[in-house]
Amino acid sequence: MSKILCLNLCYHSNEFVIIIRDYKNYSELISIISRVHKYISTPWLVHNNPISINCSTGIAIYPKDGKTSIQLMKNADIAMYEAKKLGRNQYHFFTEKLNKKVQDIISLTKDMTEALKDNEYELYYQPKVSIKNSKICGVEALIRWNSKNGLVPPNKFIPLAEENNFILQLGDWIVDEALNQYILWKKNGIDLVMSINISAKQISQKNFAKELIKKIDYYEINYSKIDLEITEYMFLENREFTNENLEKLLEKNISISLDDFGTGYSSLSYLKKFPINNLKIDKTFVDDYSTKEGSIFLETIVKMAQALNMRVIAEGIEEEAQLEYLKKISCDQYQGYYFSKPLKAKDLEELYFRIIS
Ligand code: C2E
Ligand code: MG
Ligand code: MG
Repeated sequence: MSKILCLNLCYHSNEFVIIIRDYKNYSELISIISRVHKYISTPWLVHNNPISINCSTGIAIYPKDGKTSIQLMKNADIAMYEAKKLGRNQYHFFTEKLNKKVQDIISLTKDMTEALKDNEYELYYQPKVSIKNSKICGVEALIRWNSKNGLVPPNKFIPLAEENNFILQLGDWIVDEALNQYILWKKNGIDLVMSINISAKQISQKNFAKELIKKIDYYEINYSKIDLEITEYMFLENREFTNENLEKLLEKNISISLDDFGTGYSSLSYLKKFPINNLKIDKTFVDDYSTKEGSIFLETIVKMAQALNMRVIAEGIEEEAQLEYLKKISCDQYQGYYFSKPLKAKDLEELYFRIIS
């Protein structure tokens, strides 16, 4: 058993290092860490109010996890961030697997940024279809990364782009590309509402609404032809400019859709506060349509949204039976592989003309 251990302790935004020179085995280590956690999290009184704090601990062991103090601290730090993800008062040992995960994230971050310069991003478009008359009434722009190593799905890089703020740069590109595509299609006789996914980071920027309105004006697009898909998550963070931006956008009649409804920490208060135009019911709810509880939820959401003057769009429709059910409960629109997967711009165009001819 190695003799030296480097413990990196994150204690609120301050970090401390504990070096333990002699210990018998891992059990003894864990017992020391548990004692430290217990001591730190014991509440104390400040003006008669109990205050308690938590800490997360990352563990690197000499010489297996590093032979220099710098290497040990770096690896203890990596382990500490993993501990933080586990929740409060947790510890995590550094492992090679963890190291690889971090290295992969670092290289993905670098590649993701370069991909913008190398034109590797592309928008695909998935139709939104009217349930009443089966006509395409809009499209949702969905980003794809054609990387040198193959297609990278958005779920793999969007969360990372949000973490390191690259989403702001990428988001600008997405908006420009989608507006451009709207104009191109309009010239070709396709006038569909363009839905663009907007992340919480973007909409919390001071000038987000102002800059977007400027772009829409520049392209001379009717505001009502642009729809922004936002998620419940952005209301949770209560960032200073989010509400202000939303108000400005709604004032201009730019349409707002609440995406993935039901998957976040749904609070109906913001539905009351903002006149959101569309509510998109998440696929997980639609998948459950044939169970008693599932159908009650779906029907209730549709009724509530429509009573609040919102249009309801069901996501992820893969079967005819799901569509038939949505018809029965008077849902307004749907999206899903049953009608079409997200398509390249030229394929969407082909599909559109094939359907209307
Ligand atoms: P989302 O906005 O909720 O998009 C719906 C996702 O469901 C898309 O996945 C779409 O391809 C997929 N989908 C549609 N119909 C079906 C179906 O019938 N079955 C199944 N299994 N899936 C279906 P995608 O394109 O992989 O995007 C995933 C998420 O990544 C999006 O969820 C959105 O949160 C994010 N995303 C995608 N493009 C953008 C973007 O341009 N900007 C931002 N900020 N986020 C984006
Ligand atoms: Mg969406
Ligand atoms: Mg969604």
